[in-house]
Amino acid sequence: MLVVNELKDVKGLKVYVRVDFNVPQKDGVIRDNNRIKAALPTIEELTKKGAKVILMSHLGKIKWKEPDMAKIEAMKKANDMAPVAKALQELLPDTPVHFVNATRGEELRKAVDSLKDGEILLCQNTRYEKGEEKNDPALAKEWADLADAFVMDAFGSAHRAHASTVGVPTFMKEEGKPVALGYLMVNEVKNLTRCVEVKDEDRPYIAILGGFKVSDKIKVIDTLLSKCDKILIGGAMAYTFAKAQGQKIGSSPCEDDQLDYARKCLEDAKGRILLPVDSVITDNFEEGSQRHIKTVDTVSGIPDGYEGMDIGPKTQALYASEIAKAKMVFWNGPMGVFEQKEFQEGTKAVCAAAAKLKGKAFTVIGGGDSASAVKQFGYRDAFSHVSTGGGASLEMIENDGHLPGVDILK
Ligand code: AMP
Repeated sequence: MLVVNELKDVKGLKVYVRVDFNVPQKDGVIRDNNRIKAALPTIEELTKKGAKVILMSHLGKIKWKEPDMAKIEAMKKANDMAPVAKALQELLPDTPVHFVNATRGEELRKAVDSLKDGEILLCQNTRYEKGEEKNDPALAKEWADLADAFVMDAFGSAHRAHASTVGVPTFMKEEGKPVALGYLMVNEVKNLTRCVEVKDEDRPYIAILGGFKVSDKIKVIDTLLSKCDKILIGGAMAYTFAKAQGQKIGSSPCEDDQLDYARKCLEDAKGRILLPVDSVITDNFEEGSQRHIKTVDTVSGIPDGYEGMDIGPKTQALYASEIAKAKMVFWNGPMGVFEQKEFQEGTKAVCAAAAKLKGKAFTVIGGGDSASAVKQFGYRDAFSHVSTGGGASLEMIENDGHLPGVDILK
């Protein structure tokens, strides 16, 4: 696969770069510009060489199934890309950043044509187009016709075969235009590939899985079982496994339709799946309300009216001792409701244990809430790689290193 710095004769070339500018924002104020910063090395590689850079990204969700057009317009307004252009301009004060409030047609074409060498054009949110998520060929062709080359740098969207991610490079390839990976993508692909093409020196390889739903992670559990030495399970999903083993889980979250799957997983794993041995529980989920919080061993079970909110101290110690032996760690999903301070300890303990491996093992966070947790608890720099895409990193592991937005560039 070609990398952005290998594109030839870039000066004056119109380069379509698919970035992930899906930043958290409200009322035009961007709360976290990390995703914009993460795309800068690729953008600057191109502008410094005199390319005309056309940036495309989605932002938020627009539910096109909504029958009320006024509601669709409101969703569009809430996900306007214009403030992102301002934020990008602040990060690149010496490069002109233009914004075009269009996703198709004359206005977009004119904005592209008036770009000068080394300048940037950020287009309106790709999801303003109904055909984006359906990979509509006419839309993809129109976008592909705007530029002379394609660069994919939106790892967080690489698991989605949309018009802006897969449709555009498909047409460009057919027309003999070059397609390449951006720097952010190269880094993600390299690090996550190491988690699926496991070498002997990376063993023991431990996966840590948490978060809410077992059903979201079924395929990844299957794949990880074939690759890892052990899987440590925490978060709400642990209670489906606990119930499958016949334990009493009180009113903890549980997916009853996944009990058979959980049983089968545990059988197949032959002791390689570890479950919590104790839990921090509460009789009321609501933070700040009157509630009781206590720790129970899972063998004694969770009483009725209580739900499991975090792994307990014995589990923290057990998981820390397993992590200490690892040469490679892949972690996705918090160990408990880490957004509430009473239930942060499990996630913090796993962060601290994995952070101790710095310099001794290869440690990867698979995006999403676990990435937020390591940043919040101050461990970001202790990890070898913190992925920018939760869904994409899980899908890449599930599909043995394949993603639609990467495979199309091969
Ligand atoms: P996911 O998106 O599947 O990774 O799930 C992350 C969410 O799971 C976070 O918002 C956590 O608060 C939540 N979570 C983790 N453990 C629990 C639990 N024991 N009970 C309820 N929610 C949980």
